[in-house]
Amino acid sequence: MNYPVVIVGASMGGLRTAESLRRFGYLGPITVIGEEIHKPYNRPPLSKEVLAKEVTHEAVAFEERAATADVNWVLGTRAVSADFEHNSVTDSDGQVHPFAALVIATGQACS
Ligand SMILES: Cc1cc2nc3c(=O)[nH]c(=O)nc-3n(C[C@H](O)[C@H](O)[C@H](O)COP(=O)(O)OP(=O)(O)OC[C@H]3O[C@@H](n4cnc5c(N)ncnc54)[C@H](O)[C@@H]3O)c2cc1C
Repeated sequence: MNYPVVIVGASMGGLRTAESLRRFGYLGPITVIGEEIHKPYNRPPLSKEVLAKEVTHEAVAFEERAATADVNWVLGTRAVSADFEHNSVTDSDGQVHPFAALVIATGQACS
């Protein structure tokens, strides 16, 4: 059976959720929707280093683990609505993502 998990928010919380799902044996499809164009990156170095030098995404990106290599990253688009009757999330490009489980990992700035 196919029980897709959709995670909204492609930062540390979203990434760690995907990693934990794999670590605890979930083998089904995982989609992560993130409004930023980048895959998850570590934010603290930004405040420490950004004033001193230019920081590239590569320099602060979280390590990509083999367990989450098959995660479907849908980046540069926002989740704009969730339909809990039909279990789906729609993003700002109009794409509909069905889910069996939905994780909201949008940090403090959920909008
Ligand atoms: C400059 C800076 C310095 C920091 N320094 C430290 C430090 O020294 N020590 C420390 O412990 N912590 C620090 N933090 C805090 C730390 O980065 C956060 O605790 C951590 O990023 C939280 O992760 P998160 O995934 O919960 O939320 P966030 O990192 O806030 O990520 C949420 C993500 O969800 C996305 N999102 C929101 N709404 C939607 C939507 N509708 N659809 C799709 N995507 C959406 C956002 O674009 C964002 O990428 C710092 C943060 C910043 C910004």
